[in-house]
Amino acid sequence: MQRLGFASVYRLTRSCIVASSCSTTAATHPTPILQPEVQHTKIFINNDWHDAVSGKGFPTTNPTTGQVIGQVAEGARADVDIAVRAAREALSRGSPWCQMNASERGMLLRHLADLLYRDRVYLASLETLDNGKPYIDALHDVDFAIQLYQYFSGWSDKVCGQTIPVDGDFMCYTKIEPVGVCGLIIPWNFPIVMQALKLAPALTMGNTVVLKPAEQTPLTALYVASLVQEAGFPPGVVNVVPGFGVTAGAAVAEHMDVDKVSFTGSTEVGRLVQQAAGRSNLKRVTLELGGKSPCIVLPDADLDFSAQLAHDALFFNMGQVCSAGSRTFVQEPVYNEFVERSVELANKRKVGDPFNLATQQGPQVDLDQFNKVMANIKLGSKQGAKLLCGGKRFGEIGYFIQPTVFADVTDDMTIARDEIFGPVQSIIPFKTLDDVIKRANDSRYGLAGAVFTNDLNKALQVAHGLRVGTVWVNCFNQHKVAAPFGGYKESGFGRDLGECALQAYTEVKTITIKVSP
Ligand code: ADP
Ligand code: MG
Repeated sequence: MQRLGFASVYRLTRSCIVASSCSTTAATHPTPILQPEVQHTKIFINNDWHDAVSGKGFPTTNPTTGQVIGQVAEGARADVDIAVRAAREALSRGSPWCQMNASERGMLLRHLADLLYRDRVYLASLETLDNGKPYIDALHDVDFAIQLYQYFSGWSDKVCGQTIPVDGDFMCYTKIEPVGVCGLIIPWNFPIVMQALKLAPALTMGNTVVLKPAEQTPLTALYVASLVQEAGFPPGVVNVVPGFGVTAGAAVAEHMDVDKVSFTGSTEVGRLVQQAAGRSNLKRVTLELGGKSPCIVLPDADLDFSAQLAHDALFFNMGQVCSAGSRTFVQEPVYNEFVERSVELANKRKVGDPFNLATQQGPQVDLDQFNKVMANIKLGSKQGAKLLCGGKRFGEIGYFIQPTVFADVTDDMTIARDEIFGPVQSIIPFKTLDDVIKRANDSRYGLAGAVFTNDLNKALQVAHGLRVGTVWVNCFNQHKVAAPFGGYKESGFGRDLGECALQAYTEVKTITIKVSP
């Protein structure tokens, strides 16, 4: 049984204080590593590195240049089987993980947070290389991941059952237990955050995991796996199988010995994951899916402020955000002026090398995404939206797209209904508050929404009227470790973040004991 001695407890506690006080307040940005060395490309099972059973590899690409960074082991069904066996074994009675005190699990997570902090420049640089996001944003992602491990570490020994006063001579209590082996399938838009978002609550509650990173961005997940090992997690607790969705991802979703799948990605694939669970062992499923989030601008709000926030709400992370403010609704008296300012902001946006600290927008993640966004732009023009800026490829290499603004968008246009996941802002006029709430809710999605106003009453009408999982008032994309996040309707179900997330990784066991009178 693995226990941490007093000396290591002290060391961990002290270093955590250093990490937590520095990680979130970095006012100056450390210089990136321009060509970060790729250290891990194999499958991580039982704290060890393996080639794929098939012997195959797949390329991961740098979206800034379109060039291949290197080959990564291509995990598929046979590799997922081995990983699930390792995860199951790590959960067996008497295993080090099962015998570990809850407080010690928390300490391991804090240690992992420390290691991420130690390597945050390397990790952020690797993320920028593999994903194309601006390095400053990648650095914020790493810091948010650190916060996630720290926040969830605190829950390890604080989740309690109840004693229940049932009728008769009985003692009745509930015990909160891990679900078991968790399959974590994550997307490419925030690789290091998504990994932490799911790993941290799963581990703090005592589960074991098989994580399938997105095929576009496997590198930081594999490096974090090496940190998991360095932190001292027992073998088999965390397993990482890179590979494609239809093979490795589907194998996780269909597996008869996976107890739960937590998925973040497209609504289309979310549907497949839930179907696979239904066809196999009725594994528990939580899904965080797409969105078409309304950003509602009322005329009383400061126009510069709301134009800037609506701009950031859409263009952040190249528009590749599930909660992106992709329907900018603006009330008629200020509509034209708002559109003008939005175009100015889009024209000023700095697009280019994501390693340059001044860059605000890098490339889309891959050629497929680039093509999908460009097709949406064409469709927007064809269906009659007014293209006011952008609309074309930026530069000659890589997958860059000019910041694009459409005005006079109507609710029935494809660009106002489907998720574009690109730097394309759609500005839509409206007349009354009642009208805009109704129209904002006329969507198959229900992830998030926002309103910009100084009128408290109107803010609350929107906040309470929107059928979405998160509402921001005079702010946007404020994701906080302690605040639940997830969708209504086809944006999925279950909540990531905050105490709510713990439910997704636990079962409740009721124990009733007959007491002799
Ligand atoms: P996007 O369209 O943004 O790439 P996806 O939903 O396709 O998002 O991908 C999110 C994650 O789901 C990725 O890790 C991907 O490999 C995985 N995935 C894709 N297809 C499937 C599938 N059929 N079953 C399970 N996972 C899948
Ligand atoms: Mg890549």
